[in-house]
Amino acid sequence: ENTQLKDIISHAKEYGFVFPSSEIYDGLQAVYDYGQMGVELKNNLKQLWWKSMTQLHQNIVGIDSAIFMQPDTWKASGHIDSFNDPMIDNKDSKKRYRADVLIEDKAAEYEKAGDKEKADALLKLMGHLLEKEDLVGVQELIIAEGIKCPISGTANWTEVRQFNLMFSTQVGSVAEDSTTIYLRPETAQGIFVNFLNVQKTGRMKIPFGIAQIGKAFRNEIVARQFIFRMREFEQMEMQFFVRPGTEMEWYNKWRESRKKWHEVVGVPAEKLRFHDHEKLAHYANAAVDIEFEFPFGFKEVEGIHSRTDFDLKQHQELSRKKMQYFDNDLNEEGKPFGNYVPYVVETSVGADRLFLMTLCNAYQEEEITENEQTKTRTFLKFHPAIAPVKAAIFPLVRKDGLPEKAMEIFDDLKYDFNMIYEERDAIGKRYTRQDLIGTPFCIAVDYQTMEDNTVTVRERDSREQKRMPISELRQYIGDAVSM
Ligand code: ATP
Repeated sequence: ENTQLKDIISHAKEYGFVFPSSEIYDGLQAVYDYGQMGVELKNNLKQLWWKSMTQLHQNIVGIDSAIFMQPDTWKASGHIDSFNDPMIDNKDSKKRYRADVLIEDKAAEYEKAGDKEKADALLKLMGHLLEKEDLVGVQELIIAEGIKCPISGTANWTEVRQFNLMFSTQVGSVAEDSTTIYLRPETAQGIFVNFLNVQKTGRMKIPFGIAQIGKAFRNEIVARQFIFRMREFEQMEMQFFVRPGTEMEWYNKWRESRKKWHEVVGVPAEKLRFHDHEKLAHYANAAVDIEFEFPFGFKEVEGIHSRTDFDLKQHQELSRKKMQYFDNDLNEEGKPFGNYVPYVVETSVGADRLFLMTLCNAYQEEEITENEQTKTRTFLKFHPAIAPVKAAIFPLVRKDGLPEKAMEIFDDLKYDFNMIYEERDAIGKRYTRQDLIGTPFCIAVDYQTMEDNTVTVRERDSREQKRMPISELRQYIGDAVSM
């Protein structure tokens, strides 16, 4: 299983999707850079999400708030007091682990061995201990389960401590004037503090939503599984403000519609599942994860949370600004609903996790026979709408006016689609290279083109080629890349 993840990681690096950050200095743990192909794929995913929120919904608008925020924000949200993970160190290897992750891994082991009951009981017990903040109990559980450090192989553990995940830094040039501020650990708070600004200036009527895409930072204790868990990552969040009492209806609606969205973008339904939270965060009255079957198992890609009026109420208290909405729709008694603090249902997906899901889902290896030889073809089966490059254009040979003809087609289509022009190497090699980056169409200009203005179009998944007039290319590619 993990060999598949390894293959995907090396593929991502070799073809310009994802590089380790500052690689010439041996990298920085849990930080990555997107390369020339990766940035196109990621931008396409972000744009699709943005459009599906703000363009397809009359009542959802976007904002772009700052990463730095007045530090009281994080007091109000609860992050200063309780955005912690329980950590534990192994005294022999000096390695640090998340205590809850060690226990979850143990539970996964039980489940794999067929003992789902034991796995569930263990997770339940852990949830119970964490809820009570019984860190001694968590340590005892780790010892009782005989959990060993994967590096040293011993169970020589320290006590369990809470570790705050927020990065902090200083603003102000002189030490006395400086204040500790934080890099935001989620984008949501930028939306809550702007709730009234947007509602008033946009004359928004409940129910309505505010969407945002932006960087978030978490000092994750265990950085694992490539870009699944990063210290600097990007979130795409949408907070939907509703009338109190209607939140479950909206929660159910968003839960279904977000799962559908992933299916439309190309993930088969059987690779997705819901995971309802038994243990709820302090702000939530319902929460579910949409999980994808990664090479390392089903894991969260997106969360849908019913956050009640927790955040707006907290900000109202600390800032002493009223976070109320006047609802003049009429209730059953024919009177306006009046003033209230809205309830919030949020959808929160990581752009990087969505990227990893897309890449894992697209990565295909198949046996093919070409020129009587069997070989393995590796290709990325992206939905054309998210593929980094939509079409590649090749002159069959580098003479007789074919390159000029191909360039003419390229220049005509480049305003509509991200394309590649390639004239080096044999045509078969050029097809292979496009397969590896997931380009859905390859257009070849040959001698017949010079006579009748038709080209061949090779389709990535079927490898089939068909002849088509140049004048039909725009429509043909356009239909395929639209959703
Ligand atoms: P986890 O349990 O995996 O730590 P979480 O439940 O804390 O995640 P949320 O706070 O709900 O995550 O964040 C919403 C989304 O942001 C997640 O579903 C995930 O896609 C993304 N996300 C969260 N933390 C990270 C991270 N360290 N690296 C990449 N993406 C992340």
